[in-house]
Amino acid sequence: MILEIVEYGHPTLRQKGTDVREINEEIRNLAESMIETMHDADGVGLAAQQVNVAKRLFVLDVRQSENRPSTMWEEGKEVDFDARMPMVLINPEITISGDWEIEEEGCLSFPGIGADVRRRGRVKVRATNLEGQTISFEASGLLARAVQHEFDHVNGILFIDRLDSSKKASLAGKLKRLRAGKK
Ligand code: ZN
Repeated sequence: MILEIVEYGHPTLRQKGTDVREINEEIRNLAESMIETMHDADGVGLAAQQVNVAKRLFVLDVRQSENRPSTMWEEGKEVDFDARMPMVLINPEITISGDWEIEEEGCLSFPGIGADVRRRGRVKVRATNLEGQTISFEASGLLARAVQHEFDHVNGILFIDRLDSSKKASLAGKLKRLRAGKK
C-alpha cells in the first residue's frame, strides 16, 4: 500500500521514535508499505516518521544510483549490496567514522529542496531485520550517507539541521512556503 509522505512542518517529523518491541503483522505491513512508498517516490530511503509513525525503523534501497556508488562490508568482507536491497532496519544503532564528505541531499519530506550536507564517509550499522535477526554491516558512499540521513529521521533530526547557517538562510523562503503547505 502506498502511504502518504508527510512534509516539513508536520509534527511527527520532529518526534524521536520509540523502539519496535515486537516484529508483528503491523510492523511487517508497515515495512512493506514503506518500501512500496519509497520506490513509488523514487527515493533511496524512507523513515517511519515520514509516514507519520514515530518508531525506530527505516527502509533503504540505493540500487538505482549509478553515479553515486556505495560499498558494503559484512564481517570485514565486501559484499554485493544490490542483493541486500531493499533493506528494513529496525531499532538501528550506528557508529560513524571516516573523512567528512559534502554531497547534495534531498528528502521526500522536502519536495523540490536539495542542499549540500556534510557527513562522515563511513558508517557501521547494527539493527534488527524483519525476520527478527540482528544484522550488522559497514558502508561507504551513498549507502553510508543514506543510513545517516534515515538514522537522523528516526531521532527527529532533519537534513536541514545539518546545514550551515548561511545555506539554511538561503533556503528560508522555500522552507517557509513548504511549512505553510504551499509549494
Ligand atoms: Zn529524509
